[in-house]
Amino acid sequence: MKDLFEGAQYIMDRLEEAGFQAYMVGGCIRDLLLDREMGDIDIATSALPVEVSSLFPKTIPVGIEHGTVIVRHGAVSYEVTTFRKEGKYVDRRHPSSVEYIDSLEEDLSRRDFTINAMAMDRFGTIHDPFGGRQDLQNQLIKTVGNPVERFLEDPLRIMRALRFWSVMGFSLESQTKRACVSLSKELREIAVERIAVEFTKLLRGMDAPICLAFIFEEGFSSSLPDLERYKDRTDHLSSFGWTGLEKDVERWAALLFLLGVSDLTGFLKAWKRSNAFIREVGLLFRFLDKDVRQPVYLYELGEERAVSCLRIRNLLQGKEANEELSDLKKSYHKLPIHSRKQLAVNGRDVVKSFEREKGPWIQEILGEIEKGVIEKTVQNNKEEILSWVRSWKVK
Ligand code: ATP
Ligand code: MG
Repeated sequence: MKDLFEGAQYIMDRLEEAGFQAYMVGGCIRDLLLDREMGDIDIATSALPVEVSSLFPKTIPVGIEHGTVIVRHGAVSYEVTTFRKEGKYVDRRHPSSVEYIDSLEEDLSRRDFTINAMAMDRFGTIHDPFGGRQDLQNQLIKTVGNPVERFLEDPLRIMRALRFWSVMGFSLESQTKRACVSLSKELREIAVERIAVEFTKLLRGMDAPICLAFIFEEGFSSSLPDLERYKDRTDHLSSFGWTGLEKDVERWAALLFLLGVSDLTGFLKAWKRSNAFIREVGLLFRFLDKDVRQPVYLYELGEERAVSCLRIRNLLQGKEANEELSDLKKSYHKLPIHSRKQLAVNGRDVVKSFEREKGPWIQEILGEIEKGVIEKTVQNNKEEILSWVRSWKVK
């Protein structure tokens, strides 16, 4: 945390020494004022991207078309963005142009919510032209300027409003809330990937239960992928202990389970989730109705996934059982083996013992042996396993 701050200070000092303005802006100021841990620090500057690049030895021109250059300092990345205003949003996704400007205040005015539209200079003075500090104090999410205009300009902000509500436990200011509801259909214009990012963050929030209820009650669900058809199955969403979960895969698995989704892949594909993510959620989901403390399940899932499953399962049953989780970890470590490679026999031993042509049957037998070892029917010892295997042949 200290390093994060010192790096930002260094970057601002260098920019100012070179004759430019530089400020920490956006979410980091909000989090600083709330005494919450900051994810990263964004810097806004009057320097143009080429000027930023020339001032620092390690830069990456990631979003240079939007005026953003990443400056690496120590092991940390800082997004340094030139003050800008956005031209009209042509397709509701991208501003038609980005115009660099010289004014911090104008840069702050393009930002979504008052609590995200503050800056701090290198001496620690806060610049807050839209009353963000007051709204932080009143715990309000309020757009900078007219909410209808701001949501029409970029409807993703509707989803961001819900996300900040959930994560911070704030309320939506009344006009902002009204505009959110009345313009929710505009979300259909937004790339699903961007919505999914905000929705995933929403699921992490302390107010996720009431936010989810709101999403269905106020009809946002009809503009979000594949949700509407579950609108009559939302009873359990708001009583579930969302904050007891630790990973995003757990949250999505719980969501699917609570809604009673049967086509898991179809649902997650509609949300444009990656194949790797779908696979992980699918694994957790398949084991949610099983007792993962059983050695075979524990072995198949591995430690982390088994812990995730038990965590979700406990929460579904209304209990928070950390002791059970540490017992589960202990049980995992006590398993006789943790992968097939650790078996005392291999395919060749099996072929020799059965005196049969090679074939897919070998894998099946190895699977049986694996199960026998895990369930401690047989010890993981070559002689014992082979005599156990021979005893089946006799049967
Ligand atoms: P987090 O802590 O989750 O990163 P954040 O506020 O930093 O929250 P980001 O998505 O990282 O959110 O955006 C950084 C800043 O950029 C915001 O604080 C806000 O000032 C501005 N911003 C981001 N998205 C939008 C948007 N769609 N419209 C207007 N301003 C935005
Ligand atoms: Mg951020």
